[in-house]
Amino acid sequence: MKEFLTDDSRKNELPKKIYKLIHRFGPITKIDLAQHIQLKPTTMTRLIDELLQAGYIREAGIGPSSGGRPPILYEVIETAAWIIGIDLSRNVSRIVLTDMQFNMVDQHVMLMTNRHTPDIVFDEITGVIRKWLQIYSISDDALLGIGVGAVGPILRTEGKIVGAESFLASGWEQVSIPARLSEFPAVLSVDNGANSAAIAEHYFYDELYSNLIYYINGYGIRGGVLHDGKVISHRQGDTSALGHIIVQANGKVCVCGKSGCLSAYATLAAMLEEFEAASDRSGLSAEQFIEEISAGNEIAVSIAKQGAFYLGIGLANMVNTLRPEMVVLHGALVYGTSFFFDEVIQSAKAHIYSNDVSFPTFKEGSLREQAIALGSAIQLFQSFFNE
Ligand SMILES: [Zn+2]
Repeated sequence: MKEFLTDDSRKNELPKKIYKLIHRFGPITKIDLAQHIQLKPTTMTRLIDELLQAGYIREAGIGPSSGGRPPILYEVIETAAWIIGIDLSRNVSRIVLTDMQFNMVDQHVMLMTNRHTPDIVFDEITGVIRKWLQIYSISDDALLGIGVGAVGPILRTEGKIVGAESFLASGWEQVSIPARLSEFPAVLSVDNGANSAAIAEHYFYDELYSNLIYYINGYGIRGGVLHDGKVISHRQGDTSALGHIIVQANGKVCVCGKSGCLSAYATLAAMLEEFEAASDRSGLSAEQFIEEISAGNEIAVSIAKQGAFYLGIGLANMVNTLRPEMVVLHGALVYGTSFFFDEVIQSAKAHIYSNDVSFPTFKEGSLREQAIALGSAIQLFQSFFNE
């Protein structure tokens, strides 16, 4: 399968195109395929026979008849190959194994502590991948590739994490992901995790919304932006920059050294710091902060509401600039409290310029914690099609 998808010769152009169409629209008949690609019927039949014989697709029953002989449906064989998706994040990292339809077959979760240096993390990751290759009897050709969604900034062409600001352990200043995963004969794609999450949300749930902002409100703030279904990216893939838009002129000093950044108000780190100062405690974890909120601690609740207010302002600025159709919010406070999401949206709506257009649709991330890992598997698959 990998040989087929990495073959970029002219001869392989049409077979790959047909495969991609069946992957996207299957189960589908030849007649419906012909609406997406203009081919002579004999050519179409020959190409489909080739894909059937190679074991990449299969017949999937009979489609509706329009009078004549009922047409055969085709779909991809999910288990023809496998993809690994990796979410490298500050607090929790995650590895998933998916089939060709991005169904999650297995997953491994890592809590990132201050001893999780790159050596420790990649030892664990490579160990898990080795184990899966054995358990699921995955051959070199059937391991399609490894997609990685990481904390930025990232040099995306080199697949390198550079100066990530937020890992707890040391050693993450310059990490080449291809070098760390070189033992596997697999294609690699690396992007910022927020972009990966945006891709996953779009792919699984909202194909109709192709202009989308995906905000990760975690220990830091990251955001992915899709325009016409494609990631808006630049060389560094540094979507953490969205956390440093200014929401308060001359405001609180941010970790980046400037004043009034969204991150100085709305990240878990900022809220935790404020809560510790206000309640005269120290060394609390983000989880403990959220527990205090759940237990009804008024100080914690009011700090989280203030964070939501500023996050809404940041979102409003992004919406005014990019006019997305959809805004997706992701993060522990979004999923773990009853009010955070609503407060953010209320503040965003109060600050969005909306004389001439309607508000975007706001929603919580559908794939929750799995969004980044699954999204990076999808991005890996998409990387074979140069679109
Ligand atoms: Zn900043």
